[in-house]
Amino acid sequence: MTKYCPICNRSSDDVKFFGEICAYCTIDMLKKKIPSTAKIYTCRFCGRVKAGADYERISKASLARALQGQLSTSDCKVSVSDFDIEHRRATAEFSCYEGELAFTKEVKLSIEHKTCQTCYRQRSGYYEAVIQLRGSSEAVGKALGRLEAYVSRNGAFIAKEEAVRKGYDIYVSDKLVASGFFSYYRLKPLKSYELYGLKRGRKVYRNIYAVSLD
Ligand SMILES: [Zn+2]
Ligand SMILES: [Zn+2]
Repeated sequence: MTKYCPICNRSSDDVKFFGEICAYCTIDMLKKKIPSTAKIYTCRFCGRVKAGADYERISKASLARALQGQLSTSDCKVSVSDFDIEHRRATAEFSCYEGELAFTKEVKLSIEHKTCQTCYRQRSGYYEAVIQLRGSSEAVGKALGRLEAYVSRNGAFIAKEEAVRKGYDIYVSDKLVASGFFSYYRLKPLKSYELYGLKRGRKVYRNIYAVSLD
């Protein structure tokens, strides 16, 4: 039986219907419900955007994750086809009712600056491991270069480098990355621990690695 849309009078012979309403008017109604401004959080230091629990490099995919919860109901999935952070706008694509209905909407971005955990730790001198490189200046220099590259490649950072007698003490933000470095280069450091505090009633240790390079 042919239906007629109560809003625009289009016929179901010409247009797809969603319940009693035609596709055009359904899109209009959905568009009105979607806020035209969305809030995103970016890190004031590294510029990454908060997408879910973590901060990520700004991309169409991470922005879509940041916007999904604010823009959409469970009926529609949000993707981002274009964005311009400087001018604070994004083009959001909505795919609704399992892809039966699709449309685009321009969204203004309201940006709030925060500090992500990585930048916070970096700025507060946070570290979990100390690597004591010892040996000839040539061997130490080579290991130091490899360590710096490995640490940044794996998303950690060096909080401090201290020249000491016969080598360097390197303070590394992440103990898993520090121990990964040793397995990657097949080094066998002497490992010890230093108690540095309590976290929810549990003792927290820093790992100290002494590496003899000669
Ligand atoms: Zn209609
Ligand atoms: Zn950051």
